[in-house]
Amino acid sequence: MLPFTIEKNSQFGRFAVATHNIEAGSFLFDEIPFAIGPNIRTYCCCLECYCPVDGTASGTRCENCSWPLCNECSKLSEFSAHKRECEIFREAKCKFFNLPDANATCMQLDCITPLRVLLEREINMERWKNEVEPMEDHREKRINSNAWKEDQQNIVGYLLGPCKLGQRGITAELIHKVIGVLEVNAFEAKTLKGTFVRCLYPRLAILSHSCTPNTTHAIHPSDNYSLKVRATVAIEKGSQLFSCYTYTQKGTLDRQQHLMEGKYFQCHCERCLDPTELGTHFSSMKCSSCLFGDVLSSNPLDSDANWICNKCSQENSAESIKEMLKALQGEIDNANSIEFLENSLEEYEHLLNPNHYIMTSMKNSLIDAYGHINGYMLHEMPDILLKRKIELCDELLAILDVFERGMTRARAMILYELHTPIVLYAKSQFEIGNSTKLKYLKQLENAREILNESREILEWEDENVCMIIWGARKSQENLEKLIASLKCE
Ligand SMILES: [Zn+2]
Ligand SMILES: [Zn+2]
Ligand SMILES: [Zn+2]
Ligand SMILES: [Zn+2]
Repeated sequence: MLPFTIEKNSQFGRFAVATHNIEAGSFLFDEIPFAIGPNIRTYCCCLECYCPVDGTASGTRCENCSWPLCNECSKLSEFSAHKRECEIFREAKCKFFNLPDANATCMQLDCITPLRVLLEREINMERWKNEVEPMEDHREKRINSNAWKEDQQNIVGYLLGPCKLGQRGITAELIHKVIGVLEVNAFEAKTLKGTFVRCLYPRLAILSHSCTPNTTHAIHPSDNYSLKVRATVAIEKGSQLFSCYTYTQKGTLDRQQHLMEGKYFQCHCERCLDPTELGTHFSSMKCSSCLFGDVLSSNPLDSDANWICNKCSQENSAESIKEMLKALQGEIDNANSIEFLENSLEEYEHLLNPNHYIMTSMKNSLIDAYGHINGYMLHEMPDILLKRKIELCDELLAILDVFERGMTRARAMILYELHTPIVLYAKSQFEIGNSTKLKYLKQLENAREILNESREILEWEDENVCMIIWGARKSQENLEKLIASLKCE
């Protein structure tokens, strides 16, 4: 039985309400996708396994229908993903048109995922009616947009014309509905080969959006792309379940723009309404007038609203703020070394709040770099840099504890990055006589706790895609051994 009931109101449309108290980490539900297929505006890929295929005349094709398949899949005696559309294309004699060059975007593949939804509908009408039909497609906002006109020609026209889907009772309205449902609701998943597909999970779509969600989901490509949803924090009976339709580690302006352009709504969550983003100052700039205050948007939901200093009340136009952010972002987009990132962090300190998302993304890049690039591998890092990595992880975690609370993948990744420098720093300090054995043991046990929490969360992922799980398991084994040997001495 599902742990939630479905309710409806004008703000959220359909939404999910917990039927009982839910503990952090609890499994909530799983589901298999209604359909899986290539992303929109994608490169040319195999219609069975989604690996890249040469789209020019020299690429491999399906013997039956002439559409792209990789070498391996073209030899299969029976298809799974490609099966139904293969019959449609063959019967209607709809040939694939070779691309002029191998790097061109393959617009012809835009029709594949909608077609798969339509064909699944025919054999699974009950699930269509109960789960997919009620999904939001924002027809009224999409109609007559440029994308709509492009879809009309490229997808609707193609499926009804050459593919003759009209003979199966499929209408232009239905195809536009499917395109809209996919556009608003589909999730991107990574295949076992590391490429990307989009999947439609109707049950997950019932959960409303929040920029501080209380659930998380993992897609398991090695288990038919099944989706598993869990609570990241404790959820009280009667509370709403939220997932996040955008990126929690973007500022309010960017999140609002992404949601409006891709999902056609404005978010009114607590975080979006608060100019300080729940006290984190994730979008706050430093005041150039008093050099002391934080400059905040006077209305975070209006991207044209003025920004005002919270100490001296100096006003800045939205335009000047956006220009400055664009310039700073442009500078760090080309960041290519630890030195550059560290220098930029220092330089930007008088322009941005230390928690600003640009600062945070630089800190994230540094966490990824320390311990992973030549000259900075963990075992060659001096204590001062080990401490620096620990400090950066702590700063990141403080922000994630607000935006990605509880048992989330983002926290798990940072916790994983944090545990090794703690171990190495503690070891080094013990070896040079700066700490006692007791203190050393305590630090190791702290690292073990951090690693355990990380591993517990990572175990929810598909181990064939999320390779870091293997690293976490191995680290745990080594750390247990180290602690045990120290206790024996
Ligand atoms: Zn293939
Ligand atoms: Zn085929
Ligand atoms: Zn929000
Ligand atoms: Zn000021």
